[in-house]
Amino acid sequence: MKHLVAVGAHAGDMEITAGAVIAGHVRQGGRATLVHLSLGDKGHPRLTPAEYGPQKRTEAERAAAALGAEVCFLDFRDAEIFCSEASILTVADTLRALQADAVITHWRESIHPDHSECHRIVTEATFYASVPHLPRPHPNHPVRALYYAENWEDRFGFDPYLSIDVSEDVATWEQSVTQYALFRGEVVAWPYLDYYRSLLRLRGCLCGKQYAQAFAIPDRDKHLVRSSLVG
Ligand SMILES: [Zn+2]
Repeated sequence: MKHLVAVGAHAGDMEITAGAVIAGHVRQGGRATLVHLSLGDKGHPRLTPAEYGPQKRTEAERAAAALGAEVCFLDFRDAEIFCSEASILTVADTLRALQADAVITHWRESIHPDHSECHRIVTEATFYASVPHLPRPHPNHPVRALYYAENWEDRFGFDPYLSIDVSEDVATWEQSVTQYALFRGEVVAWPYLDYYRSLLRLRGCLCGKQYAQAFAIPDRDKHLVRSSLVG
């Protein structure tokens, strides 16, 4: 059973951008885990982090359950996520413990510094999760693929490399993301559902499917080997 692990800066980031792909992976018999570096508890205009945090945690648990995924909360603080040796190794240890086969995270250019930092942390953590002869609490486990999800906050320079047909999984995606008050429009006025529903359809149109989610990949992985240029 291949384990797909999605690592987001804030609870909700990975569900809204990659939840349909995660649902499809689970539907086809795979294992999936959502790893939230932070709860994203500082984003409510009226509630304090102490009030909003427990709500986000409950929403994240319900959102993961709707996808058929597991959920893991790390102890990073919202709006205080920084790429460091300690943070990279924390995430690498988590990927080792989960035995992640493939990982999804944020694209690098974002209006939210937490997202950009998460991108750097996870990209480097996949290396340290995979590499042998690095003594850590868990044995190394090779992360065979890394993907960057499409997020309106991370859209600068985002150039999708592949799309996944999620036509069968849009309803499950919507059931998951609407566990969050944020995505029901009850926290801020930004139209998350309109945007991401439209994006699912747009990416579907561009690849000849009903609905799709698109991903970028690291430059290091863009290497095709063929027997000829016309074959
Ligand atoms: Zn976020």
